[in-house]
Amino acid sequence: MAYSVSDYKTDAHNDWCPGCGDFGILNAVQMAFAEMQLEPHNTMVFSGIGCSGKTPHFVKAFGVHTLHGRSVPFASGAKIANPDLEVVVVGGDGDGYGIGVGHLVNSGRRNLDLAYVVFNNAVYGLTKGQAAPTLPRGAQPKSLPLPNINDAINPLALALTAGFTWIGRGYAYDVKGLRGLIVRAIRHRGAALLDVLQPCPTYNDIHTKEFWGEKVQTERGELPRILRLGEEEYDGRVSDPGDIAEIATKRQQAFERVTRIEERTPIGVFFEIDLPTFTDRLAGRLPGMKEQALAKMPIAGAEGAPAADIGHIVEGFAV
Ligand code: SF4
Ligand code: MG
Repeated sequence: MAYSVSDYKTDAHNDWCPGCGDFGILNAVQMAFAEMQLEPHNTMVFSGIGCSGKTPHFVKAFGVHTLHGRSVPFASGAKIANPDLEVVVVGGDGDGYGIGVGHLVNSGRRNLDLAYVVFNNAVYGLTKGQAAPTLPRGAQPKSLPLPNINDAINPLALALTAGFTWIGRGYAYDVKGLRGLIVRAIRHRGAALLDVLQPCPTYNDIHTKEFWGEKVQTERGELPRILRLGEEEYDGRVSDPGDIAEIATKRQQAFERVTRIEERTPIGVFFEIDLPTFTDRLAGRLPGMKEQALAKMPIAGAEGAPAADIGHIVEGFAV
């Protein structure tokens, strides 16, 4: 059967605030799933805690609403056990770049085949607007009694140095563009981080829809604040993953592009490379994994005798 966008919608009550950027991201996720014709029974969406954590409730596929900052380990377990699953992780900036940042870094090192979509609104929306790790120093959205005392982290630079093999940024109200980025992140074989600029109209009165939509002064005159990478000559894809010089050049280019200080904020794909995934590396130790996913191995025969060599499998995970 062919799946339409509405096939990925559920009847669960949605209590996100009116105008929240989460709606744009949810729509883009459902549109991406429809474009890719993902089978709901072979697709799993994992989330952590926060407003964005409710997303799996609204997507008709398997969904797990996990613990604060722990969506990536749950998703990793599912992907390792059953590589046939399409695994998508969603979560907020507080969830993924704050309490969950260790898991973020280590999922980059593993290059597990996951797409991680981060709803980046620079605040902890669910708990009434405290400063999240991406809020710039000196910014004072309405819930803060004083301007933010901490510097913001740069999630794209962090992901690049952590080893993510696909790195992009989108904007929640650019739903069609975001759909395309989500499709690319899911199609990428390896760890993909898609940071999404997401207005929180209730608690972040600085990075609003109007802020992202306004024009800013540049050397070339007034231009929209959001800059699509297609507007400039930029190719983040490593064409030959065996070419160390090309990898170094493209990494350096991506790092420079995501850390450049400028009025405009670029969206698009900054870096992309095909490298062996964690599952590929694991299959080198556990050759049976290629033929049969761990989750599908019989653990006992008809008489109840053990059928899988669990000890051998566990040894395969030794680090
Ligand atoms: Fe969206 Fe902010 Fe409301 Fe949460 S608090 S639902 S992020 S607008
Ligand atoms: Mg947040």
